Amino acid sequence: MLRFAPSPTGDMHIGNLRVALFNFIVSQQKKEDLIIRIEDTDKERNIEGKDQEILDILALFGITYSQVIYQSENFRFHSAMALQLLHEKKAFSCFCSPEWLEKKREEAKENKEAYRYDDACRDLLAELVIDNLNPFTIRLARPTDTIIIDDLIKGSVSFEPDAVDSFIIMRQDKTPTYNFACAVDDMLSDISLVIRGEDHMSNTPKQDHIRKSLGYEKNVQYAHLPIILNDMGKKMSKRDDASSVKWLLEEGFIPSAISNYLILIGNKPPCEIFDIKDAIKWFNLESISKSPARFSMDLLRHINKEHLKKMDATELSRYVGFADANIGELAKIYLEEASTTKELKSKITPIFAPKEMPEEFKESAKIITKTIKDAPYFEEYDEFKSYVMKTSGLKGKDFFKPLRILLTGAQNGPDIALVYKYLKNYLGEIVK
Ligand code: GLU
Repeated sequence: MLRFAPSPTGDMHIGNLRVALFNFIVSQQKKEDLIIRIEDTDKERNIEGKDQEILDILALFGITYSQVIYQSENFRFHSAMALQLLHEKKAFSCFCSPEWLEKKREEAKENKEAYRYDDACRDLLAELVIDNLNPFTIRLARPTDTIIIDDLIKGSVSFEPDAVDSFIIMRQDKTPTYNFACAVDDMLSDISLVIRGEDHMSNTPKQDHIRKSLGYEKNVQYAHLPIILNDMGKKMSKRDDASSVKWLLEEGFIPSAISNYLILIGNKPPCEIFDIKDAIKWFNLESISKSPARFSMDLLRHINKEHLKKMDATELSRYVGFADANIGELAKIYLEEASTTKELKSKITPIFAPKEMPEEFKESAKIITKTIKDAPYFEEYDEFKSYVMKTSGLKGKDFFKPLRILLTGAQNGPDIALVYKYLKNYLGEIVK
């Protein structure tokens, strides 16, 4: 079983979508189920409606799954597991106040040491615990041995017990911490492989330690994906518009191209342009580069254009506001100067809109308009052009410039003969 575990705390980041895609591909390859776990335990950071937005994005990208679980619905299991750890003395109640812990943290900082909990409450006598009316957290006692994680991408990574620390698993309000909820839920869902971003690498020994402490013997495999850097070489953050999947979609990048791009970067695919179905045939997690992938808008635009070229013409026409294969073919011609559906729309819409004619061509445009309105139907552009030229008595710039503007709404653009091929049936609507 695999899982994708998004937090409903903001717009979906492309790094998260990459994680979702990889989980989906590997689940298909292994013929194992993929579940979605909405990690909604951080009430303060949750944003209403983001869970549905994430599910909608997954649907748009063709990422299917067997089940959606909300982490907050598992609270009773988290409490039961914490109780088990307390009974077995693997966990202990900690009465240290947040202020006290903060002071200790400051001291460590001043001494330039990594802060570690000093285990002050670890061996409190039961009488002291029961008589203490102060709020308390529950901590899991630090491991005794080095924890080694064999990561499918990073290789073998070891963590010393001190780095894992005696960490909090239940807060004072008795809600589980992220690591505890996550480790328990992976166990409850029988997860065999966790694919996630490398920002979670430092959580992995803690989650491993939690499950081992609970007596869970199954080895959960990990694959931590390197981060995606922006063009400045910094981690892509909310400040980079292109980090938001929603933004990319609004800008006219299509799901198949975004997926292609996210599977391509930091990877060694056998070809540059592909869809998810192809990727399922050759994708190999172990070929993913250990170093960060770098985001390139130019490459994404190129891939988007290639996907738009391959798209069914009627489908493409829908992206620009029509449902007509001719308009889709026309849009494909405009791909020589556009790479997104938004840009294509900005080229196609003016064709059908009232035209802005420069003063110098107004007179000629009037004559051409009348000529076209009265003209018979011509299959070929050359015949059409010869007829309009002859009948209007215009030639050269005075003919071609206004004709182009009348037909396309722009002064420059693709070969007009190509454009005519797909516009000839709509001349009445275009030249008004
Ligand atoms: N909820 C975490 C996040 O969105 C992912 C946790 C995980 O995959 O283990 O970053």
